[in-house]
Order: sequence, then C-alpha cells, then structure tokens
Amino acid sequence: MKMTTGGTEPNLAAKRHFFFDVDGTLARSHTPVEPSMRELLQALRRSGRTVTVVTGSDLHYIKQSIPCLWSEADCDFSALAQSGNMAYDAQGSVVWERPLREEQKREILGYVARVRAAERFDVPDEGDLVQDRGSQVSFSIYGHNAPVGEKETVDPDMSKRKALLQKYPFVSQDVDVRIGGTTTFDFFAKGFNKGRNIADFIALPRFGWKEEECVYLGDRLEPGGNDETVVGVIDTKAVRDPADCERVVRGVLES
Ligand SMILES: [Mg+2]
Repeated sequence: MKMTTGGTEPNLAAKRHFFFDVDGTLARSHTPVEPSMRELLQALRRSGRTVTVVTGSDLHYIKQSIPCLWSEADCDFSALAQSGNMAYDAQGSVVWERPLREEQKREILGYVARVRAAERFDVPDEGDLVQDRGSQVSFSIYGHNAPVGEKETVDPDMSKRKALLQKYPFVSQDVDVRIGGTTTFDFFAKGFNKGRNIADFIALPRFGWKEEECVYLGDRLEPGGNDETVVGVIDTKAVRDPADCERVVRGVLES
C-alpha cells in the first residue's frame, strides 16, 4: 500500500524518477519557479535521476514557469500538461495528446454557464474565468491571470469550490471535474486524471521505468485535492509549499 501521510514515508533517496506538481509545489500559482528550486531540479538530473513536471496547465504555462525547459543542460524534464492529457518526453517531443471532443466541451461549457448564471462571482475580469486548453477546460472562480496574492486568498482550503460542487453537482458519463490549482475546476475526459496519466507514462516500454522507482511530490494529496488521484499509483510525498519542497529535494541530494 502506498501511503501519503500517516504511514510509512517512501525512501526518497532510493527513487530514480521524480514527479512534481507545479502550482503550490514547485512555485506559487502562475509565477516562475524560483532559481533555487530550478537549480535543485537540475541537480536531481545531474544525480542521474529523471524529473517530470505534472500540472493542470498547458505547455505555454510550464515554459513560463520553467524558462530553461529543454533549452539548457540538465533542464531536460518530461512534462505532463493538462493533468497529463498532453504528454511530452525529456526532449520536448509529444508522447500523446488526448484532446476533448467537441460534445465534451459543450457539456462542460454548458455546466459552467449554468453555475455562472446562478451565482455571483466577484472577479476582476469576467473574461478571464474559462480556459479551453484543448485536452482540458479550466474554470477559475476568480481569474486565471489575477494577481497571485489575491488568488491565494480566494479559496485556500478549497471550501468554496467544494461547496459549489455540492450545490451544483456535475453529473456526466463522459467528463470528470476536479478541484484544480489555486482557484480552478479542471474538466477532462472521464478517468483521464493525473494518476491515470502518470501510470500510463511510467508504463511506456521505451522508458523502462519501474513503478517502485517513482515518487510524486504534491501539495494537494488529500481527499478532494488535485493530486489525490496519484495516491495508490506510485509512492507520494506531501509537501506544504515550494519552500517545503525545496527542503525535501535538498534532503534527497544530500543523502
Ligand atoms: Mg498544487
């Protein structure tokens, strides 16, 4: 049994393949990864380990977060964007793309429109709430591009978004919704969550990665969090924030 908290902590130093959530784990929402964190990730690579970043956001956002990606030595990370529905290998080549079908998008946008019509959202920009990322649609209750300091105060414990989902259940045969990064709901094809996509990625024969050599670090592994689906797929390590994540990675490098 792979535990998150309260059980046996994984032996991180023995791991070969490190998966990282981005928002709240490697960086604050929609801000670049700090140079100190980037250097630690590159040091992980130099130690012979692999690094894969996993996020609900798209590749454009990942490149903003990690400007060295695929352009500097030791910054050859794999990337699972849009909850892993767009997968890139360590050279930046697309491994797979799992786009939403038009009828799935219609279903999602119809639901979002109903919720927005029924609720009043006090937001800085009405036009900044819905992003169609191709393989995922993300609905922010405040604004994707709002100042990060404001976003972090909107729903830090996810209680507002949990209440919205309870009040307006999203029922679909074909699409799943999960509470996403800081202010969002992420919609994607049913079952194609972070956990499923990480399992598929690890299983790629050309990598030859072993499940027990992999570990995922995330800030939202608890029930309802957007890292929860990884629990049980590979070992997981909960971190509070980027500073805590840096401390954990430094510990791996020093062991
Ligand atoms: Mg996160």
